[in-house]
Amino acid sequence: MDSARTRAWLRTAALYLDRDKDRLTRLDLAIGDGDHGVNMHRGFLAVTAALDEWEQDDLTAGELLIAVGDTLVSTIGGASGPLFGSSFRAMGKTLSAPGPDDDSRRFAAALSAARASVHRLGAAEPGDKTMYDVYEGAVDAFTRVADTGGSLEAAARAAADAADAGVRATELMQARRGRASYLGLRSVGHQDPGAASLALIFHALAHALE
Ligand code: ADP
Ligand code: MG
Ligand code: MG
Repeated sequence: MDSARTRAWLRTAALYLDRDKDRLTRLDLAIGDGDHGVNMHRGFLAVTAALDEWEQDDLTAGELLIAVGDTLVSTIGGASGPLFGSSFRAMGKTLSAPGPDDDSRRFAAALSAARASVHRLGAAEPGDKTMYDVYEGAVDAFTRVADTGGSLEAAARAAADAADAGVRATELMQARRGRASYLGLRSVGHQDPGAASLALIFHALAHALE
């Protein structure tokens, strides 16, 4: 994963989050406080605004993703800001450290680090109806393809498909973390907004790598 492809990924993610802002907000209105679309949009707008400057600074993909994480923490806010922020920082740190030579295995390691950071920070388990339900399946799918010699593109496509399945699965779950957990059983029947955002980010990765 080089910095040009990383920038293409981030620009695509920002476009998708802009396009789906109202849908994400509606999801959060149903089981939260209705700010998720706006939160994500604000965060990725700040990222796209900084991208040109980062390009001039000639950052590596790893350094770029750390800067993205810092920007997301300070602009998304709410519960999801620190979670998305730390996951991008974790990806960046992993890509900046020595790792496998193979591009898709290396990025699989970065995604595993992102998942671990969300797990550490949010303490959500699979089935708690959070973005973690997307991380689980998507990172496993990515890693499976990478471990069998698949390309970055193929791994990202598998991850995006698994992410969609993860989002759909959250619909039947009762929320046990975050604001939606206050609703108890009434949270069942709605997709989790953070899971939906993360799936868009995986789709952006697959699209940017095509
Ligand atoms: P807030 O709930 O503070 O308004 P957002 O609406 O931006 O924040 O984000 C809500 C999303 O954050 C949820 O849909 C869920 O995916 C995610 N989330 C909340 N708490 C946790 C947690 N402890 N672990 C993982 N994800 C979480
Ligand atoms: Mg919210
Ligand atoms: Mg909020």
